[in-house]
Amino acid sequence: MSDSVSAGGECEPRHGGAETAAELQRARQDLQRLAIMEPLTRLLHRQAFDEQVQQELADASAHGRQCTLVVIGLDGFRLLNQVYGQRVGDRILQAVAARLRNFVREPNLLGRRGGDEFVALLRDIADADAAMGATREMLAAIQRLERVGNLEVQVDASAGVVLFPADGGDIDSLMEAGDGALARAKREGGRRCARFSADLGRAKDLRIRLEQRLRRACEARDFRLLYQPQVSLPDRRLIGAEALVRWNDAELGDISPAEFIPIAEASGLIDGLSDWVLREVCRQRQMWRQVGLDLPPVAINLSGVQLRSPGCVRSVLETIDEFQISPEEIEIEITETWVFDSSSLLAQENLQRLKMAGVRSVLDDFGVGASSLVQLRDLPIHRLKIDRSFTVECMRNARTLTIVKAVIDMAHNLGLTVTAEGIETADQESWMHHLGCDSVQGFYIARPMPAEDFLRRYLAERTQPTSSRSIVDGGPAVDSVQ
Ligand code: C2E
Ligand code: MG
Ligand code: MG
Repeated sequence: MSDSVSAGGECEPRHGGAETAAELQRARQDLQRLAIMEPLTRLLHRQAFDEQVQQELADASAHGRQCTLVVIGLDGFRLLNQVYGQRVGDRILQAVAARLRNFVREPNLLGRRGGDEFVALLRDIADADAAMGATREMLAAIQRLERVGNLEVQVDASAGVVLFPADGGDIDSLMEAGDGALARAKREGGRRCARFSADLGRAKDLRIRLEQRLRRACEARDFRLLYQPQVSLPDRRLIGAEALVRWNDAELGDISPAEFIPIAEASGLIDGLSDWVLREVCRQRQMWRQVGLDLPPVAINLSGVQLRSPGCVRSVLETIDEFQISPEEIEIEITETWVFDSSSLLAQENLQRLKMAGVRSVLDDFGVGASSLVQLRDLPIHRLKIDRSFTVECMRNARTLTIVKAVIDMAHNLGLTVTAEGIETADQESWMHHLGCDSVQGFYIARPMPAEDFLRRYLAERTQPTSSRSIVDGGPAVDSVQ
Protein backbone atom coordinates (compact mmCIF):
# COMPACT_ATOMS: atom_id res chain seq x y z
CA MET A 1 0.00 0.00 0.00
CA SER A 2 1.20 3.49 -0.83
CA ASP A 3 2.55 5.44 2.15
CA SER A 4 0.67 8.55 1.21
CA VAL A 5 -2.81 7.03 1.38
CA SER A 6 -4.63 5.93 4.50
CA ALA A 7 -6.81 2.80 4.40
CA GLY A 8 -9.85 5.01 4.01
CA GLY A 9 -8.12 7.31 1.57
CA GLU A 10 -9.65 10.23 3.47
CA CYS A 11 -8.37 13.78 3.13
CA GLU A 12 -9.66 17.34 3.17
CA PRO A 13 -9.42 19.43 0.03
CA ARG A 14 -7.40 22.57 0.74
CA HIS A 15 -8.21 26.06 -0.46
CA GLY A 16 -6.15 29.23 -0.84
CA GLY A 17 -2.65 29.73 -2.22
CA ALA A 18 0.26 27.52 -1.25
CA GLU A 19 2.72 30.08 0.02
CA THR A 20 5.57 27.96 1.23
CA ALA A 21 7.30 24.97 -0.28
CA ALA A 22 5.88 22.76 2.48
CA GLU A 23 2.36 23.94 1.74
CA LEU A 24 2.90 23.41 -1.95
CA GLN A 25 4.04 19.90 -1.24
CA ARG A 26 0.99 19.29 0.94
CA ALA A 27 -1.36 20.63 -1.73
CA ARG A 28 0.18 18.26 -4.29
CA GLN A 29 -0.31 15.32 -1.96
CA ASP A 30 -3.93 16.31 -1.35
CA LEU A 31 -4.54 16.49 -5.08
CA GLN A 32 -3.00 13.05 -5.49
CA ARG A 33 -5.30 11.70 -2.82
CA LEU A 34 -8.37 13.28 -4.38
CA ALA A 35 -7.49 11.68 -7.68
CA ILE A 36 -7.73 8.17 -6.23
CA MET A 37 -10.85 8.77 -4.19
CA GLU A 38 -14.45 8.05 -4.90
CA PRO A 39 -16.19 11.37 -4.09
CA LEU A 40 -19.26 10.18 -2.18
CA THR A 41 -17.57 8.02 0.45
CA ARG A 42 -13.98 9.23 0.10
CA LEU A 43 -12.78 5.68 -0.14
CA LEU A 44 -10.45 4.42 -2.85
CA HIS A 45 -12.27 4.18 -6.17
CA ARG A 46 -12.30 1.00 -8.18
CA GLN A 47 -9.23 1.64 -10.31
CA ALA A 48 -7.10 2.90 -7.42
CA PHE A 49 -8.15 0.02 -5.20
CA ASP A 50 -7.34 -2.54 -7.90
CA GLU A 51 -3.93 -0.99 -8.56
CA GLN A 52 -3.00 -0.95 -4.90
CA VAL A 53 -4.25 -4.51 -4.41
CA GLN A 54 -2.10 -5.63 -7.34
CA GLN A 55 0.97 -4.10 -5.71
CA GLU A 56 0.03 -5.69 -2.42
CA LEU A 57 -0.47 -9.13 -4.00
CA ALA A 58 2.90 -8.92 -5.72
CA ASP A 59 4.51 -8.05 -2.41
CA ALA A 60 2.61 -10.80 -0.53
CA SER A 61 3.61 -13.31 -3.19
CA ALA A 62 7.30 -12.31 -2.97
CA HIS A 63 7.28 -12.73 0.80
CA GLY A 64 5.01 -15.80 0.98
CA ARG A 65 2.25 -13.94 2.81
CA GLN A 66 -1.49 -14.57 2.63
CA CYS A 67 -4.19 -11.91 2.33
CA THR A 68 -7.95 -11.87 2.53
CA LEU A 69 -10.22 -10.01 0.16
CA VAL A 70 -13.65 -9.17 1.57
CA VAL A 71 -16.46 -8.02 -0.73
CA ILE A 72 -19.30 -6.39 1.17
CA GLY A 73 -22.76 -5.64 -0.18
CA LEU A 74 -25.67 -3.99 1.61
CA ASP A 75 -28.77 -6.17 1.83
CA GLY A 76 -31.77 -4.78 -0.02
CA PHE A 77 -29.99 -1.57 -0.97
CA ARG A 78 -31.62 -1.30 -4.37
CA LEU A 79 -34.99 -1.41 -2.68
CA LEU A 80 -33.94 1.04 -0.01
CA ASN A 81 -32.95 3.47 -2.76
CA GLN A 82 -36.26 2.93 -4.54
CA VAL A 83 -38.35 3.38 -1.43
CA TYR A 84 -36.55 6.24 0.32
CA GLY A 85 -34.86 7.91 -2.63
CA GLN A 86 -31.25 8.29 -3.64
CA ARG A 87 -30.40 10.98 -1.10
CA VAL A 88 -31.14 8.64 1.77
CA GLY A 89 -29.25 5.89 -0.07
CA ASP A 90 -26.22 8.17 -0.36
CA ARG A 91 -26.31 8.99 3.34
CA ILE A 92 -26.39 5.30 4.19
CA LEU A 93 -23.39 4.62 1.95
CA GLN A 94 -21.46 7.43 3.66
CA ALA A 95 -22.35 6.11 7.10
CA VAL A 96 -21.26 2.58 6.15
CA ALA A 97 -17.99 3.92 4.72
CA ALA A 98 -17.31 5.79 7.96
CA ARG A 99 -17.87 2.66 10.04
CA LEU A 100 -15.72 0.54 7.77
CA ARG A 101 -12.98 3.14 7.92
CA ASN A 102 -12.92 2.80 11.68
CA PHE A 103 -12.55 -0.91 11.35
CA VAL A 104 -10.23 -1.37 8.38
CA ARG A 105 -7.10 0.53 9.24
CA GLU A 106 -3.74 0.89 7.58
CA PRO A 107 -1.93 -0.97 6.20
CA ASN A 108 -5.11 -2.68 5.03
CA LEU A 109 -6.94 -1.29 1.99
CA LEU A 110 -10.52 -0.16 1.74
CA GLY A 111 -12.45 0.89 -1.36
CA ARG A 112 -15.86 1.26 -2.94
CA ARG A 113 -16.31 -0.45 -6.25
CA GLY A 114 -19.62 1.20 -7.12
CA GLY A 115 -23.24 0.84 -6.04
CA ASP A 116 -23.44 -0.65 -2.58
CA GLU A 117 -20.29 -2.75 -2.95
CA PHE A 118 -17.35 -2.13 -0.65
CA VAL A 119 -14.07 -4.05 -0.72
CA ALA A 120 -11.35 -4.54 1.83
CA LEU A 121 -7.97 -6.20 1.52
CA LEU A 122 -6.81 -7.48 4.89
CA ARG A 123 -3.10 -8.21 5.04
CA ASP A 124 -1.54 -11.07 6.94
CA ILE A 125 -4.69 -13.00 7.74
CA ALA A 126 -3.31 -16.42 8.39
CA ASP A 127 -6.28 -18.74 7.73
CA ALA A 128 -9.92 -19.00 6.71
CA ASP A 129 -11.21 -18.98 10.30
CA ALA A 130 -9.41 -15.75 11.09
CA ALA A 131 -10.69 -14.24 7.82
CA MET A 132 -14.29 -15.20 8.60
CA GLY A 133 -13.93 -13.92 12.17
CA ALA A 134 -12.63 -10.53 11.00
CA THR A 135 -15.39 -10.29 8.39
CA ARG A 136 -18.09 -11.05 10.96
CA GLU A 137 -16.76 -8.26 13.13
CA MET A 138 -16.80 -5.94 10.15
CA LEU A 139 -20.43 -6.80 9.41
CA ALA A 140 -21.35 -6.31 13.06
CA ALA A 141 -19.80 -2.85 12.86
CA ILE A 142 -22.00 -1.92 9.89
CA GLN A 143 -25.28 -3.52 10.88
CA ARG A 144 -27.32 -1.13 12.91
CA LEU A 145 -30.16 1.33 12.82
CA GLU A 146 -29.17 4.44 10.91
CA ARG A 147 -30.97 7.71 11.48
CA VAL A 148 -31.35 9.83 8.34
CA GLY A 149 -33.36 12.95 9.09
CA ASN A 150 -36.60 11.70 10.58
CA LEU A 151 -36.12 8.21 9.23
CA GLU A 152 -34.67 5.22 10.99
CA VAL A 153 -33.31 2.74 8.49
CA GLN A 154 -31.96 -0.66 9.40
CA VAL A 155 -28.68 -1.28 7.58
CA ASP A 156 -27.84 -4.91 6.94
CA ALA A 157 -24.94 -6.29 5.01
CA SER A 158 -23.48 -9.52 3.68
CA ALA A 159 -19.95 -10.37 2.66
CA GLY A 160 -17.99 -12.76 0.47
CA VAL A 161 -14.59 -13.86 1.70
CA VAL A 162 -11.69 -15.02 -0.51
CA LEU A 163 -8.14 -15.91 0.36
CA PHE A 164 -5.02 -15.11 -1.61
CA PRO A 165 -3.39 -17.19 -2.99
CA ALA A 166 -5.68 -20.17 -2.23
CA ASP A 167 -8.83 -18.88 -4.02
CA GLY A 168 -7.29 -16.77 -6.78
CA GLY A 169 -3.91 -15.49 -7.95
CA ASP A 170 -4.83 -12.01 -9.25
CA ILE A 171 -7.25 -9.22 -8.58
CA ASP A 172 -9.73 -10.28 -11.31
CA SER A 173 -10.08 -13.87 -10.19
CA LEU A 174 -10.23 -12.81 -6.53
CA MET A 175 -12.96 -10.27 -7.26
CA GLU A 176 -14.98 -12.76 -9.27
CA ALA A 177 -14.70 -15.33 -6.48
CA GLY A 178 -15.61 -12.65 -3.91
CA ASP A 179 -18.70 -11.62 -5.88
CA GLY A 180 -19.77 -15.27 -6.08
CA ALA A 181 -19.33 -15.76 -2.34
CA LEU A 182 -21.24 -12.53 -1.65
CA ALA A 183 -24.10 -13.69 -3.88
CA ARG A 184 -24.25 -16.93 -1.90
CA ALA A 185 -24.36 -15.06 1.42
CA LYS A 186 -27.28 -13.01 0.10
CA ARG A 187 -29.03 -16.07 -1.30
CA GLU A 188 -28.80 -17.72 2.08
CA GLY A 189 -30.76 -14.89 3.62
CA GLY A 190 -28.29 -12.02 4.01
CA ARG A 191 -26.74 -10.63 7.21
CA ARG A 192 -23.95 -13.18 6.91
CA CYS A 193 -20.63 -13.89 5.28
CA ALA A 194 -19.77 -16.78 2.99
CA ARG A 195 -16.42 -18.19 2.00
CA PHE A 196 -15.59 -18.85 -1.63
CA SER A 197 -15.74 -22.51 -2.66
CA ALA A 198 -15.08 -24.17 -5.99
CA ASP A 199 -18.70 -25.21 -6.52
CA LEU A 200 -19.71 -21.55 -6.42
CA GLY A 201 -18.48 -21.07 -9.96
CA ARG A 202 -20.87 -23.76 -11.16
CA ALA A 203 -23.72 -22.35 -9.05
CA LYS A 204 -23.13 -18.93 -10.59
CA ASP A 205 -23.36 -20.32 -14.13
CA LEU A 206 -26.61 -22.08 -13.28
CA ARG A 207 -28.04 -18.96 -11.71
CA ILE A 208 -27.23 -16.87 -14.81
CA ARG A 209 -28.80 -19.51 -17.00
CA LEU A 210 -31.90 -19.67 -14.80
CA GLU A 211 -32.29 -15.91 -15.01
CA GLN A 212 -32.00 -15.95 -18.82
CA ARG A 213 -34.57 -18.74 -19.12
CA LEU A 214 -36.87 -17.04 -16.61
CA ARG A 215 -36.75 -13.82 -18.63
CA ARG A 216 -37.90 -15.74 -21.69
CA ALA A 217 -40.63 -17.49 -19.71
CA CYS A 218 -41.88 -14.12 -18.42
CA GLU A 219 -41.99 -12.71 -21.94
CA ALA A 220 -43.86 -15.75 -23.19
CA ARG A 221 -46.04 -15.94 -20.03
CA ASP A 222 -44.96 -19.57 -19.90
CA PHE A 223 -46.29 -20.48 -16.43
CA ARG A 224 -49.10 -22.50 -14.93
CA LEU A 225 -51.12 -21.88 -11.87
CA LEU A 226 -52.19 -24.53 -9.36
CA TYR A 227 -54.71 -24.13 -6.56
CA GLN A 228 -54.21 -25.74 -3.16
CA PRO A 229 -57.43 -26.03 -1.14
CA GLN A 230 -57.69 -24.74 2.40
CA VAL A 231 -60.31 -26.32 4.67
CA SER A 232 -61.86 -25.43 7.98
CA LEU A 233 -61.49 -27.57 11.12
CA PRO A 234 -62.95 -29.88 12.13
CA ASP A 235 -65.52 -30.08 9.35
CA ARG A 236 -63.14 -29.75 6.39
CA ARG A 237 -65.33 -27.24 4.63
CA LEU A 238 -63.59 -25.63 1.68
CA ILE A 239 -62.81 -22.07 2.75
CA GLY A 240 -60.44 -21.06 -0.02
CA ALA A 241 -57.36 -21.93 -2.01
CA GLU A 242 -53.83 -20.66 -2.44
CA ALA A 243 -52.68 -19.97 -6.00
CA LEU A 244 -49.18 -21.37 -6.56
CA VAL A 245 -47.20 -20.66 -9.68
CA ARG A 246 -45.43 -23.41 -11.64
CA TRP A 247 -42.67 -23.14 -14.22
CA ASN A 248 -41.54 -25.92 -16.47
CA ASP A 249 -38.62 -24.90 -18.62
CA ALA A 250 -38.01 -26.83 -21.85
CA GLU A 251 -34.28 -27.14 -21.06
CA LEU A 252 -34.10 -27.09 -17.27
CA GLY A 253 -37.30 -28.98 -16.42
CA ASP A 254 -39.52 -28.20 -13.42
CA ILE A 255 -38.14 -25.45 -11.25
CA SER A 256 -39.55 -24.77 -7.82
CA PRO A 257 -40.95 -21.30 -7.08
CA ALA A 258 -38.79 -21.34 -3.96
CA GLU A 259 -35.85 -21.26 -6.39
CA PHE A 260 -37.06 -18.91 -9.12
CA ILE A 261 -39.10 -16.35 -7.13
CA PRO A 262 -35.94 -14.95 -5.44
CA ILE A 263 -34.30 -14.71 -8.89
CA ALA A 264 -37.38 -12.92 -10.23
CA GLU A 265 -37.22 -10.55 -7.26
CA ALA A 266 -33.55 -9.79 -7.69
CA SER A 267 -33.75 -9.30 -11.45
CA GLY A 268 -36.85 -7.12 -11.58
CA LEU A 269 -38.88 -9.85 -13.32
CA ILE A 270 -41.20 -10.24 -10.35
CA ASP A 271 -43.57 -7.45 -11.45
CA GLY A 272 -44.42 -9.16 -14.72
CA LEU A 273 -44.68 -12.57 -13.06
CA SER A 274 -46.99 -11.39 -10.28
CA ASP A 275 -49.08 -9.47 -12.72
CA TRP A 276 -49.53 -12.69 -14.68
CA VAL A 277 -50.54 -14.62 -11.52
CA LEU A 278 -53.09 -12.01 -10.46
CA ARG A 279 -54.55 -11.76 -13.95
CA GLU A 280 -54.75 -15.53 -14.23
CA VAL A 281 -56.63 -15.80 -10.93
CA CYS A 282 -58.96 -12.95 -11.92
CA ARG A 283 -59.56 -14.44 -15.36
CA GLN A 284 -60.37 -17.80 -13.78
CA ARG A 285 -62.74 -16.27 -11.26
CA GLN A 286 -64.44 -14.27 -13.96
CA MET A 287 -65.10 -17.49 -15.86
CA TRP A 288 -66.50 -19.19 -12.75
CA ARG A 289 -68.66 -16.18 -12.13
CA GLN A 290 -69.98 -16.14 -15.68
CA VAL A 291 -71.38 -19.64 -15.13
CA GLY A 292 -72.92 -18.64 -11.82
CA LEU A 293 -70.34 -20.21 -9.49
CA ASP A 294 -69.29 -18.45 -6.33
CA LEU A 295 -66.11 -20.21 -5.21
CA PRO A 296 -64.38 -19.30 -1.95
CA PRO A 297 -61.56 -16.71 -2.13
CA VAL A 298 -58.22 -17.45 -3.75
CA ALA A 299 -55.04 -16.29 -2.01
CA ILE A 300 -52.20 -14.85 -4.07
CA ASN A 301 -48.63 -14.67 -2.83
CA LEU A 302 -47.36 -11.15 -3.20
CA SER A 303 -43.63 -10.67 -3.16
CA GLY A 304 -42.38 -8.32 -0.49
CA VAL A 305 -40.44 -6.46 -3.16
CA GLN A 306 -43.76 -5.47 -4.66
CA LEU A 307 -45.56 -4.77 -1.44
CA ARG A 308 -42.93 -2.15 -0.80
CA SER A 309 -43.32 -0.43 -4.13
CA PRO A 310 -45.48 2.69 -4.27
CA GLY A 311 -47.66 1.61 -7.23
CA CYS A 312 -48.47 -1.84 -5.83
CA VAL A 313 -51.96 -1.27 -4.45
CA ARG A 314 -53.13 0.74 -7.42
CA SER A 315 -51.99 -2.00 -9.78
CA VAL A 316 -53.79 -4.76 -7.79
CA LEU A 317 -57.02 -2.76 -7.58
CA GLU A 318 -56.94 -1.80 -11.26
CA THR A 319 -56.53 -5.44 -12.27
CA ILE A 320 -59.37 -6.77 -10.14
CA ASP A 321 -61.51 -3.91 -11.39
CA GLU A 322 -60.66 -4.75 -14.98
CA PHE A 323 -61.98 -8.29 -14.47
CA GLN A 324 -64.91 -7.07 -12.37
CA ILE A 325 -63.74 -9.12 -9.41
CA SER A 326 -64.86 -7.96 -6.01
CA PRO A 327 -62.10 -7.38 -3.41
CA GLU A 328 -63.27 -10.17 -1.09
CA GLU A 329 -62.75 -12.76 -3.84
CA ILE A 330 -58.99 -12.58 -3.48
CA GLU A 331 -56.60 -12.51 -0.55
CA ILE A 332 -52.99 -11.38 -0.45
CA GLU A 333 -50.40 -13.59 1.26
CA ILE A 334 -47.29 -11.85 2.40
CA THR A 335 -44.40 -13.29 4.37
CA GLU A 336 -43.57 -12.05 7.80
CA THR A 337 -40.02 -10.85 7.15
CA TRP A 338 -41.18 -8.32 4.58
CA VAL A 339 -43.76 -6.79 6.82
CA PHE A 340 -41.69 -6.42 9.95
CA ASP A 341 -38.40 -5.36 8.51
CA SER A 342 -37.67 -1.93 9.93
CA SER A 343 -37.64 -0.27 6.53
CA SER A 344 -41.08 -1.61 5.68
CA LEU A 345 -43.32 1.28 6.56
CA LEU A 346 -44.53 1.43 3.00
CA ALA A 347 -45.39 -2.29 3.09
CA GLN A 348 -47.57 -1.73 6.15
CA GLU A 349 -49.19 1.31 4.56
CA ASN A 350 -49.91 -0.68 1.43
CA LEU A 351 -51.50 -3.45 3.51
CA GLN A 352 -53.64 -0.78 5.14
CA ARG A 353 -54.69 0.56 1.73
CA LEU A 354 -55.58 -2.94 0.56
CA LYS A 355 -57.66 -3.41 3.68
CA MET A 356 -59.48 -0.11 3.10
CA ALA A 357 -60.26 -1.29 -0.41
CA GLY A 358 -61.70 -4.54 1.01
CA VAL A 359 -58.83 -6.88 0.08
CA ARG A 360 -57.87 -9.10 3.01
CA SER A 361 -54.28 -9.94 3.80
CA VAL A 362 -52.75 -13.05 5.30
CA LEU A 363 -49.42 -13.25 7.09
CA ASP A 364 -47.66 -16.27 5.56
CA ASP A 365 -44.98 -18.54 7.04
CA PHE A 366 -45.45 -17.18 10.55
CA GLY A 367 -42.77 -18.39 12.91
CA VAL A 368 -39.92 -18.39 10.40
CA GLY A 369 -38.88 -14.78 10.96
CA ALA A 370 -38.22 -13.00 14.20
CA SER A 371 -41.47 -11.13 14.62
CA SER A 372 -43.48 -11.26 17.78
CA LEU A 373 -47.19 -11.37 18.36
CA VAL A 374 -47.00 -7.91 19.86
CA GLN A 375 -46.00 -6.61 16.43
CA LEU A 376 -49.06 -8.26 14.94
CA ARG A 377 -51.38 -6.11 17.00
CA ASP A 378 -51.42 -3.13 14.67
CA LEU A 379 -51.01 -4.99 11.44
CA PRO A 380 -53.95 -4.82 9.01
CA ILE A 381 -54.21 -8.58 8.45
CA HIS A 382 -57.07 -10.95 9.08
CA ARG A 383 -55.31 -14.30 9.13
CA LEU A 384 -52.08 -15.93 10.20
CA LYS A 385 -50.56 -18.98 8.54
CA ILE A 386 -48.35 -21.03 10.82
CA ASP A 387 -45.30 -22.18 8.91
CA ARG A 388 -44.90 -25.84 8.01
CA SER A 389 -41.74 -26.19 10.06
CA PHE A 390 -43.82 -25.43 13.18
CA THR A 391 -46.50 -27.89 12.18
CA VAL A 392 -43.87 -30.61 11.85
CA GLU A 393 -41.89 -29.63 14.93
CA CYS A 394 -45.07 -29.53 17.00
CA MET A 395 -45.36 -33.27 16.70
CA ARG A 396 -41.84 -33.86 17.95
CA ASN A 397 -41.37 -31.32 20.62
CA ALA A 398 -43.68 -30.48 23.50
CA ARG A 399 -42.19 -26.99 23.88
CA THR A 400 -42.99 -26.10 20.27
CA LEU A 401 -46.47 -27.39 20.88
CA THR A 402 -46.87 -25.00 23.81
CA ILE A 403 -45.59 -22.13 21.68
CA VAL A 404 -47.97 -22.92 18.83
CA LYS A 405 -50.86 -23.11 21.27
CA ALA A 406 -49.91 -19.68 22.66
CA VAL A 407 -49.61 -18.26 19.14
CA ILE A 408 -53.06 -19.53 18.21
CA ASP A 409 -54.65 -18.21 21.42
CA MET A 410 -53.05 -14.80 21.10
CA ALA A 411 -53.93 -14.54 17.40
CA HIS A 412 -57.54 -15.29 18.33
CA ASN A 413 -57.43 -12.61 21.01
CA LEU A 414 -56.27 -10.18 18.33
CA GLY A 415 -59.27 -11.16 16.20
CA LEU A 416 -57.21 -13.14 13.65
CA THR A 417 -58.00 -16.59 12.34
CA VAL A 418 -55.21 -19.17 12.07
CA THR A 419 -54.34 -21.64 9.31
CA ALA A 420 -51.73 -24.35 9.74
CA GLU A 421 -49.61 -25.01 6.64
CA GLY A 422 -47.99 -28.23 5.49
CA ILE A 423 -50.36 -30.77 7.04
CA GLU A 424 -49.13 -34.15 5.85
CA THR A 425 -50.71 -36.61 8.31
CA ALA A 426 -54.00 -37.26 10.09
CA ASP A 427 -52.22 -36.75 13.41
CA GLN A 428 -51.04 -33.30 12.41
CA GLU A 429 -54.53 -32.33 11.34
CA SER A 430 -55.94 -33.64 14.62
CA TRP A 431 -53.39 -31.82 16.68
CA MET A 432 -53.98 -28.55 14.90
CA HIS A 433 -57.68 -28.90 15.59
CA HIS A 434 -56.95 -29.76 19.19
CA LEU A 435 -54.77 -26.66 19.54
CA GLY A 436 -57.57 -24.44 18.24
CA CYS A 437 -56.47 -23.85 14.65
CA ASP A 438 -59.32 -22.66 12.45
CA SER A 439 -58.20 -24.18 9.18
CA VAL A 440 -55.50 -26.27 7.52
CA GLN A 441 -53.72 -26.63 4.20
CA GLY A 442 -51.39 -29.43 3.19
CA PHE A 443 -50.77 -32.53 1.12
CA TYR A 444 -52.88 -34.60 3.53
CA ILE A 445 -55.92 -32.49 2.63
CA ALA A 446 -55.05 -31.91 -1.02
CA ARG A 447 -52.03 -31.24 -3.16
CA PRO A 448 -51.90 -28.13 -5.35
CA MET A 449 -54.14 -28.89 -8.35
CA PRO A 450 -55.23 -27.37 -11.67
CA ALA A 451 -58.22 -25.02 -11.65
CA GLU A 452 -60.56 -27.68 -13.12
CA ASP A 453 -59.79 -30.11 -10.27
CA PHE A 454 -60.31 -27.39 -7.71
CA LEU A 455 -63.68 -26.63 -9.28
CA ARG A 456 -64.56 -30.35 -9.23
CA ARG A 457 -63.70 -30.52 -5.55
CA TYR A 458 -65.88 -27.51 -4.85
CA LEU A 459 -68.79 -28.97 -6.78
CA ALA A 460 -68.39 -32.34 -5.03
CA GLU A 461 -68.54 -30.64 -1.65
CA ARG A 462 -71.77 -28.90 -2.54
CA THR A 463 -73.43 -32.27 -3.03
CA GLN A 464 -71.87 -33.98 0.02
CA PRO A 465 -72.87 -33.35 3.65
CA THR A 466 -69.94 -31.84 5.61
CA SER A 467 -70.38 -34.16 8.64
CA SER A 468 -69.12 -37.16 6.65
CA ARG A 469 -65.80 -35.40 6.07
CA SER A 470 -65.04 -34.09 9.53
CA ILE A 471 -62.10 -35.34 11.53
CA VAL A 472 -62.62 -37.05 14.90
CA ASP A 473 -63.15 -34.46 17.56
CA GLY A 474 -61.61 -34.66 21.04
CA GLY A 475 -57.93 -34.45 20.12
CA PRO A 476 -55.24 -37.00 19.38
CA ALA A 477 -53.50 -39.18 21.93
CA VAL A 478 -51.02 -37.10 23.93
CA ASP A 479 -48.22 -39.63 23.43
CA SER A 480 -48.03 -38.71 19.75
CA VAL A 481 -45.90 -35.82 20.95
CA GLN A 482 -42.52 -37.16 22.00
P1 C2E B 1 -45.93 -20.64 0.44
O1 C2E B 1 -46.65 -19.41 0.04
O2 C2E B 1 -45.72 -20.87 1.90
O3 C2E B 1 -46.72 -21.84 -0.21
C1 C2E B 1 -46.87 -23.09 0.36
C2 C2E B 1 -45.84 -24.05 -0.18
O4 C2E B 1 -45.88 -25.25 0.58
C3 C2E B 1 -46.12 -24.46 -1.62
O5 C2E B 1 -44.86 -24.73 -2.21
C4 C2E B 1 -46.89 -25.76 -1.44
O6 C2E B 1 -46.85 -26.59 -2.57
C5 C2E B 1 -46.14 -26.34 -0.27
N1 C2E B 1 -46.95 -27.28 0.50
C6 C2E B 1 -48.27 -27.25 0.70
N2 C2E B 1 -48.67 -28.27 1.50
C7 C2E B 1 -47.54 -28.96 1.81
C8 C2E B 1 -47.29 -30.14 2.60
O7 C2E B 1 -48.17 -30.76 3.17
N3 C2E B 1 -46.00 -30.53 2.70
C9 C2E B 1 -44.99 -29.88 2.07
N4 C2E B 1 -43.76 -30.35 2.19
N5 C2E B 1 -45.18 -28.77 1.32
C10 C2E B 1 -46.46 -28.33 1.19
P2 C2E B 1 -44.48 -24.17 -3.61
O8 C2E B 1 -45.66 -24.14 -4.52
O9 C2E B 1 -43.26 -24.89 -4.04
O10 C2E B 1 -44.14 -22.65 -3.29
C11 C2E B 1 -43.06 -22.32 -2.50
C12 C2E B 1 -43.08 -20.87 -2.19
O11 C2E B 1 -42.89 -20.09 -3.37
C13 C2E B 1 -44.42 -20.40 -1.63
O12 C2E B 1 -44.50 -20.68 -0.27
C14 C2E B 1 -44.36 -18.93 -1.94
O13 C2E B 1 -43.61 -18.24 -0.99
C15 C2E B 1 -43.63 -18.90 -3.26
N6 C2E B 1 -44.62 -18.80 -4.35
C16 C2E B 1 -45.35 -19.76 -4.94
N7 C2E B 1 -46.15 -19.22 -5.88
C17 C2E B 1 -45.92 -17.88 -5.86
C18 C2E B 1 -46.44 -16.76 -6.62
O14 C2E B 1 -47.33 -16.88 -7.47
N8 C2E B 1 -45.94 -15.52 -6.32
C19 C2E B 1 -44.98 -15.34 -5.35
N9 C2E B 1 -44.55 -14.09 -5.11
N10 C2E B 1 -44.49 -16.35 -4.63
C20 C2E B 1 -44.95 -17.62 -4.89
MG1 MG C 1 -48.27 -18.60 0.66
MG1 MG D 1 -46.41 -20.45 3.54
